[in-house]
Amino acid sequence: MNKLEKLKDGSFGEFLADEPMRNHTTFKVGGPADLIMKPTTQQQIIDIVRYCYRNEIPFMVLGNGSNLLVRDKGIRGVVIKLGKNFSDIKFDGDKVTAQSGALLSTVSKKSFKQSLSGLEQVSGIPGSIGGAMVMNAGAYDKDVSSVVTKVRCLTQKGDLLEFTNAQMQFGYRTSVVSKENLIVLDVEMQLKKDNFDDIMERFKDYDYRRTSKQPLDRNSAGSTFKRPPGYYASKLIDDAGLRGYTYKRAQVSEKHCGFVINIDDATYEEVMTLIHQVQDIIKEKYGVELETEVKIIGEE
Ligand SMILES: Cc1cc2nc3c(=O)[nH]c(=O)nc-3n(C[C@H](O)[C@H](O)[C@H](O)COP(=O)(O)OP(=O)(O)OC[C@H]3O[C@@H](n4cnc5c(N)ncnc54)[C@H](O)[C@@H]3O)c2cc1C
Repeated sequence: MNKLEKLKDGSFGEFLADEPMRNHTTFKVGGPADLIMKPTTQQQIIDIVRYCYRNEIPFMVLGNGSNLLVRDKGIRGVVIKLGKNFSDIKFDGDKVTAQSGALLSTVSKKSFKQSLSGLEQVSGIPGSIGGAMVMNAGAYDKDVSSVVTKVRCLTQKGDLLEFTNAQMQFGYRTSVVSKENLIVLDVEMQLKKDNFDDIMERFKDYDYRRTSKQPLDRNSAGSTFKRPPGYYASKLIDDAGLRGYTYKRAQVSEKHCGFVINIDDATYEEVMTLIHQVQDIIKEKYGVELETEVKIIGEE
């Protein structure tokens, strides 16, 4: 029997077989995943991870798919989706604990309603709490790490680990989660009581800055490139005359040059060709290497 069949017996949660990854990423790019599992309990996640480990089935975790560019051949093995299916949020005084599938925006809005401050800057990042831990997501000079007190994870073997903030090894778009390929289960954050109107005013200001500058109505994975030391990727791209530069159905956004957008059902090949062209032009003009910030995954 195909080793993946056992995962379809219902005890591991719902699943989708041969499911196009373009349906699960904000870029709307990517071929089929063999199996997407949607566990609803911690035990189901542990069982899936241990089953995959024992049977040498490759697996990865998917959050909200907002930092991913998936290849056209898709993903072999198992994708463990930690989204709505694993997204409880609990408050205890000034602390909030969220399961990794909860959206940063939902946790933020719920905390604002309780007059809790701390997530105003990062509330517009369209990722899950788990995804935010992987790369210490941040915006407007604030990283999520600044409010994190405890993170519970699984190893690739399915063993439980608990990390304090100091043990998380947070840095610029990195943490122990990405370094050791962990699976985030839930995250505790320490917020601060504040005046509701002040919180909402700050939130609206950051929200306006984001909506006025970013092409949020287009399919993308956010900033395509990391900030090169001493430069801003979007400024280099703009200065090079690449605003609106298009290759087939992929384009450098007219609104924000740091974003590559999928205009209309672009393939991975089209998006990647555009990315390479931009990298080559910037290297030639300014001698700067642009590294991708979006994570590129899938069968080559
Ligand atoms: C319009 C737009 C604006 C954006 N703005 C910002 C911004 O201002 N700042 C910023 O930092 N980012 C930004 N991003 C990028 C993205 O939203 C963040 O990187 C976010 O943290 C990714 O979370 P996700 O749940 O979507 O992760 P996914 O894209 O699903 O996955 C990204 C990586 O995290 C891993 N992962 C996801 N969940 C887990 C988990 N529970 N356990 C272990 N690994 C996991 C995946 O395996 C993958 O390697 C933006 C993206 C878009 C589309």
